[in-house]
Amino acid sequence: MTTPSRRRVLRRAAAVAGGGFFAAAGVGHAVARQARIDPDALSRLRGALAGRLVVPDDDGYAAARRVFYWNPRTETLPTAIVRCASEDDVARAVEFARRHDLEIAVRAGGHAHLGWGGSNGLVIDLAPLAWITVDPLRRVVHAGAGALGGAIARAAAAAGLVPVLGQCPGVGATGVILGGGLGWLAGSFGACCDSLLGARLVTADSRTVTVDGGRAPDLLWGLRGAGANFGVTTSFTARLHPLGRVLGGDIHYAVADARAVLRGFRALMESAPDSLQATLNLTPGPRGLFVSLCQSGDEAAAERTLHMLRTIARPTREAVRWQPYADLAEKAAATNPGDAPAPAWRAIETVYRDSIDDEIIGIIVDQLGRATPDTILGLSHFMHGAVCRVEPTATAFPHRRAHSVHLRLATTWSDPRHSDERFAQGEEWRRLLRPAADERIYANYQTYVAPAGAAAVFGDNHARLVALKTIHDPDNTFRRNANVAPARG
Ligand SMILES: Cc1cc2nc3c(=O)[nH]c(=O)nc-3n(C[C@H](O)[C@H](O)[C@H](O)COP(=O)(O)OP(=O)(O)OC[C@H]3O[C@@H](n4cnc5c(N)ncnc54)[C@H](O)[C@@H]3O)c2cc1C
Repeated sequence: MTTPSRRRVLRRAAAVAGGGFFAAAGVGHAVARQARIDPDALSRLRGALAGRLVVPDDDGYAAARRVFYWNPRTETLPTAIVRCASEDDVARAVEFARRHDLEIAVRAGGHAHLGWGGSNGLVIDLAPLAWITVDPLRRVVHAGAGALGGAIARAAAAAGLVPVLGQCPGVGATGVILGGGLGWLAGSFGACCDSLLGARLVTADSRTVTVDGGRAPDLLWGLRGAGANFGVTTSFTARLHPLGRVLGGDIHYAVADARAVLRGFRALMESAPDSLQATLNLTPGPRGLFVSLCQSGDEAAAERTLHMLRTIARPTREAVRWQPYADLAEKAAATNPGDAPAPAWRAIETVYRDSIDDEIIGIIVDQLGRATPDTILGLSHFMHGAVCRVEPTATAFPHRRAHSVHLRLATTWSDPRHSDERFAQGEEWRRLLRPAADERIYANYQTYVAPAGAAAVFGDNHARLVALKTIHDPDNTFRRNANVAPARG
């Protein structure tokens, strides 16, 4: 029987198949429609799995297909979702998808900006593989591919250590590491991928391989920044670091002070010690502007930071305190305030710039004045310190130029009639802020495709990545990602 909710799903399937959503989003990889798969084949797959197979008729399908940036341009209707409970499940899922010619989406935390954790083909959902083991003597963490950043920070804290992961607790650790990874501790300890020591990988031909510096150094290099391209990482090992308490939290300012705060934030970050990272968020509504910070090290450095933040404009509110790093790492990101009801739709645009000049500041102030009330504009991951002291070609993640910064505009809405307005706002913002030349894109923040394609994402590493991809995934089985196309034979 076709239930009303099932009918809605089918109607949406027709819309996705016929619409230009994906072309408009510049994604270009989503398949046109759900494939018809022999039900017996699906039953056999279901019976062989330790985890769960979710298909459109199952309870929970609507929730299982949803990713964080869910909107009319990213939503998909997977033919099947495999909730993997073991490495074998991953291998079976890859093998099944290839045999039935289904596009594969690999999902850990589901936070990719372009919804890469979804597909109309087969979704390999790694969330159940969320185990975490900390080795305090060797100062490493071993974790399953579904472990999230906040949970790893909490597990490491029990041993007095910290992981190098992103600034949002809900982001998948593998998702952030495999794309490079920039977080609160980038100035002190480098990019997330710089702490990656090894991984287990299910390849396009369903083999399982161990990747580390001794056994597969080329693949380890590729996993450190372009890692979604070479297979499904099922578990990983990463270095942990000792760190005392950090000064963390938010300092708020009035919207009217936007220009002064932007200039002051730039001055703060251009002279920042390695031990400081800060993010500036600008909202047109009652939340106003706020600088979120993480300062480790001695109290004198913290006092200098606080003094600067108190003089760039008059703070309207301060909520900073010394705390264990794990407390800060578990705080919901600014783009995902925990107190508000979840919106139906979310979208984001990001642009990477080499520096913040006065023209950029002027555009941001102007855009803030025009923004819809739910909009958050932001400046994140100001590049300095340890992350910039690693050679751009030492790992696949190349964007290590000091003083470069990531700009973003995030919006949420629930009324589908507002979709066009939200997308137009984001596109206008992007058009104004994209650099005219030498455009670069950070894989984890990719929201559009540059004319240079993957070369804009991987810079001087692109040619080496094409060679590696051609060896390990010549058919481009893993392409719902910052994709490196294999060479044509
Ligand atoms: C609220 C929010 C905050 C963020 N904060 C930061 C931040 O502080 N620093 C930062 O650098 N980035 C940040 N990001 C971006 C984030 O790092 C990327 O979107 C990242 O790729 C998300 O990983 P995920 O596992 O959650 O997402 P998913 O959508 O599940 O995966 C992202 C991509 O990685 C691939 N992938 C994931 N896991 C695997 C695996 N095990 N094997 C193979 N491929 C895999 C997926 O196929 C997909 O292409 C943030 C994003 C959001 C939404």
